[in-house]
Amino acid sequence: MALTLRHLFASKKRRVMDPVKTDNYFDTQGQGTNTIQYPAQQLPVPEVGRYQLFVEMDDCIVCDLCAKICPVDCIEIDAIKATEAIGQTSDGTTKRLYAAKFDIDMAKCMYCGLCTVVCPTECITMTNQYDVSVPELDLLTYKFSDMDTAVAEEKRRLFEEAQAEKQAAKLAAMKKKEDDDKKNKDKGNGDDEGAVPELV
Ligand code: SF4
Ligand code: SF4
Repeated sequence: MALTLRHLFASKKRRVMDPVKTDNYFDTQGQGTNTIQYPAQQLPVPEVGRYQLFVEMDDCIVCDLCAKICPVDCIEIDAIKATEAIGQTSDGTTKRLYAAKFDIDMAKCMYCGLCTVVCPTECITMTNQYDVSVPELDLLTYKFSDMDTAVAEEKRRLFEEAQAEKQAAKLAAMKKKEDDDKKNKDKGNGDDEGAVPELV
């Protein structure tokens, strides 16, 4: 009965919007049960809340570690090798890969946080942004790469061309070495023909 009466009187008041760090946070939460005027009013949430993933793409080296460790495979990355270094992250790591695709399906994510732990540049983080609502499930797939298909194809082509050039140069160097060896061998044989055999 006491509990019922407490709730009856509490329902006349709104919830208190104290930050979760305040000493009497849990006491004050029981003093009002009315919902707040969301979104004009918002309850404070912990700074370390795990609500949404965010990727700072300028610091991503597209190493794929986050996608590999994800237990539910909700991160999809399409990496394209660059022909040379394309910049540095804020911690000084050299970037050598483009991200043609970097999608995270938050509808599948189980908020384990493993991806944030393995990231070498700490660019994938859990944020405390909770008020994200979308009208369709597909919109929960967050796309962090803004590279369009034509640009991605161009980058791929440039890398393939550079690889083909390297391979051709390697083959040419091998061929030259073979020719040089052959020439040296022939020359050696020619010299041997003129030489007087040593009598034992
Ligand atoms: S938090 Fe866990 S489930 Fe979600 S994307 Fe990261 S590794 Fe995958
Ligand atoms: S682990 Fe970090 S650096 Fe590597 S692909 Fe994922 S977000 Fe990018």
